Amino acid sequence: MAQGRATGGGPKGPKPQAIDEAVILERYGSNALRFAGAPDALYERRLKLDNVVEPDRADARERYEAAARAVRDIVADRWLRTDETYARENPKRVYYLSIEFLIGRSLGNNVMNLMLDPVIERAFGEDSHQWAEILHQEPDAGLGNGGLGRLAACFLDSMATLQLPAMGYGLRYEHGIFRQTIRNGWQDERPDNWLRHPDPWEVVRPSESVEVTFGCSFELRAGALRMIPNSPSSLVGIPYDRPVIGYGGETVNTLRLWSATALHAFDFQRFSGGDFVASIAEALNAESLTRVLYPDDTTVQGRELRLMQEYFLVACSLGDIVRRFRETNDDWRTLPDKAAIQMNDTHPTLAVPELMRILLDEARLDWDEAWDITRRTLAYTNHTLLPEALERWPVDWMQLLIPRHLELIYEINRRLVADIRARFPGDEARVARTSLIEEGQTKHIRMANLAIVGSHSTNGVAAIHSRLLRTTTVKDLAEAFPERFNNKTNGVTPRRWLRLANPWLAEAITASIGDAWITDLAELKKLKPLAEDAAFRAELHKAQRACKARFADWVKRHTDVVVDPDSMFDCQIKRIHEYKRQLLNALRIVVLYDRLRENPKLDMRPRTFFFAGKAAPAYHLAKVIIKFINNLGQTLDEDPVVGGKLKVVFLPEYNVTLAERCIPAADVSNQISTAGYEASGTSNMKFMMNGALTLGTRDGATIEMAEEAGEENFFLFGLTAAEVANSRPWYSPYWHYENEAETRKALDLIFSDHFSREERGVFEPLRGALLTNGDPYMHLADLTSYLAADAALSALHRQPDEWARKVIHNIAASGKFSSDRTIHEYATEIWGAKPCPAG
Ligand SMILES: *Cc1c(COP(=O)(O)O)cnc(C)c1O
Repeated sequence: MAQGRATGGGPKGPKPQAIDEAVILERYGSNALRFAGAPDALYERRLKLDNVVEPDRADARERYEAAARAVRDIVADRWLRTDETYARENPKRVYYLSIEFLIGRSLGNNVMNLMLDPVIERAFGEDSHQWAEILHQEPDAGLGNGGLGRLAACFLDSMATLQLPAMGYGLRYEHGIFRQTIRNGWQDERPDNWLRHPDPWEVVRPSESVEVTFGCSFELRAGALRMIPNSPSSLVGIPYDRPVIGYGGETVNTLRLWSATALHAFDFQRFSGGDFVASIAEALNAESLTRVLYPDDTTVQGRELRLMQEYFLVACSLGDIVRRFRETNDDWRTLPDKAAIQMNDTHPTLAVPELMRILLDEARLDWDEAWDITRRTLAYTNHTLLPEALERWPVDWMQLLIPRHLELIYEINRRLVADIRARFPGDEARVARTSLIEEGQTKHIRMANLAIVGSHSTNGVAAIHSRLLRTTTVKDLAEAFPERFNNKTNGVTPRRWLRLANPWLAEAITASIGDAWITDLAELKKLKPLAEDAAFRAELHKAQRACKARFADWVKRHTDVVVDPDSMFDCQIKRIHEYKRQLLNALRIVVLYDRLRENPKLDMRPRTFFFAGKAAPAYHLAKVIIKFINNLGQTLDEDPVVGGKLKVVFLPEYNVTLAERCIPAADVSNQISTAGYEASGTSNMKFMMNGALTLGTRDGATIEMAEEAGEENFFLFGLTAAEVANSRPWYSPYWHYENEAETRKALDLIFSDHFSREERGVFEPLRGALLTNGDPYMHLADLTSYLAADAALSALHRQPDEWARKVIHNIAASGKFSSDRTIHEYATEIWGAKPCPAG
């Protein structure tokens, strides 16, 4: 498939424009102009009618709820009008299925996308502190683990902004990603209770519920869930809709999240015999299906409940999609012309057998027709090459839970195997690798293979990732179906990640080149010549200083840690994982520290190193890494030799809101995964468009970022993916330990319990990770070149003008990494979907 070049022929959304009262009046009606500040204004009415409280008596939470509901009131007309337009025009619709949506807060973002800032300013103008406090009341909707879920949220924003007739489908977890606290340096997890208060954005629609049937019933025995075969039971999915407001407020799409509830037969009590603990029974009723998000980022824990969640998402969403399709279309064969279903990773892969089931058993089509429709409707995005992240589900469970689907998977496989045998006669090894079924003591279904075979498009999320996917991970399938494979390099929404997160930089940019960049990020290339403009460089410096002061404030308020906004802010914020190599970053800091120990007079730029990220609760080594970073910070704080030159801060509870505060304040972005392991990365892009310089390996989308900006504006280091793969057979971390003095001294310092005087031996697992287990992520191989790149970066920091030039070249080259560009490519090359402006 031909790849659209990123910059240049990008998508065009509605033109941003300075908004005045006439526009607001025309777009949203007179209510919007009377947002707040009068007894009968929307906000005051919400306080009075919903909360029955006098405005001056309302507490902060009530004010937030009223403000959000008032914004939703303004949106209601556009939301309805968007739905009506789609129903009337009957365009091809896009359905984005994702088990995660990492949304963050909505109020500030929705106000921005509606262009209501002038209204808010007028209403709360004299008291901007009150508005800030209102914004601060909203809990993050943390219905995701990290990059995959955040990508889904950015995509929704871009689809609405590009006025695509699109809808997101996910699960309404009662508890999103756990809340992280740090105690004595260790991560503690607590349940996230984001729905404790009613959520003002969601609209529940019980009349559009969908019934989902499982092939078995369930019982609890000794606290464990057991499935009772051949005794079908059903659950009901209740839709909760959230508005997805495109920039400019013309299009308001829907994110529909399913919540599970019991209908009748799903009755644990019936099987309980009354002999188990009441609290467990309570926790395992039907609602428990959507009670909690699984907190594993890149490993799959084979849990029955997770498989049920995946099927529940698919069954509810396809039931809904098909019902909507049938309302306006008689001929099943037109489904691929009316619906494009994108599977975000393999979690919704049961869409393949579910759609086949509908077409065969309900529509009564024959196999070939059903298969053709299924394949042309579905498309699949792969997100990772890590073997531990490739989903495989036991055949036994499927037999119990969804026996008809298993039957269909077997038939799909029978035909697949026959096809491969015919095309590659005698190559039984290839047949075994291609098969949907992994043989072994217990048989498993390979979900990635099923997704590729059952769809018309498989894409990776950055050029290198798509190439490695084709040539290594699923090589045999790529050889069998080469035309299905393509790349869609990820992007992020510049609305949330630049305009909302960094108003100072956004204003400086708009003052120089106008505001078209907000919906056409390639416009940023006009900044390039301004690298030579001293006045613009000064503007940027001022903007960044404001972000750093705001972030230092935020850090003080949240952690009580004082950081110096004049120090260099060096950041690595992302899930904690060995492949992302927070340990490599920590080793770099240990080396810098050791240099100061050698020579306390060493001239070093003052630096603050920020880390943030959650570890999967069962990932012990990741938790040791968090502990190490915290202890490192404490040791540095207590050692007079450091003299304020180095400070390490681990910020607890990484989430979207923290990212929005941290990223604009960063001078340096660390993107240092072992090459070949990070599919794309998206925080790398957020940092780039906010003007941080990247210290990074040649991995994921960082490669394309450096291509866009020119490598001279990047600080790349380390082994390439090919070098990692080639050196794997002979690589030994001991060589580096024995031959590199700084490497050895850093490790010896750690192993001598210098950072764990009171807790001897706690960091022994790091010896395993870095030495005795062979350093599978090759930290030691890259440490020296990381330090060299770091030295070059530090030297540059002494030349503020040169630094600012590189910053500008980075921002100017970041246009490709807008999710608008990504979605434009999906729409034209995979979905065949066109904008459908709401009339
Ligand atoms: C962007 C983002 C991510 C993804 O970060 P990577 O560094 O690309 O893994 C994860 N979590 C949050 C909250 C984000 O905003």
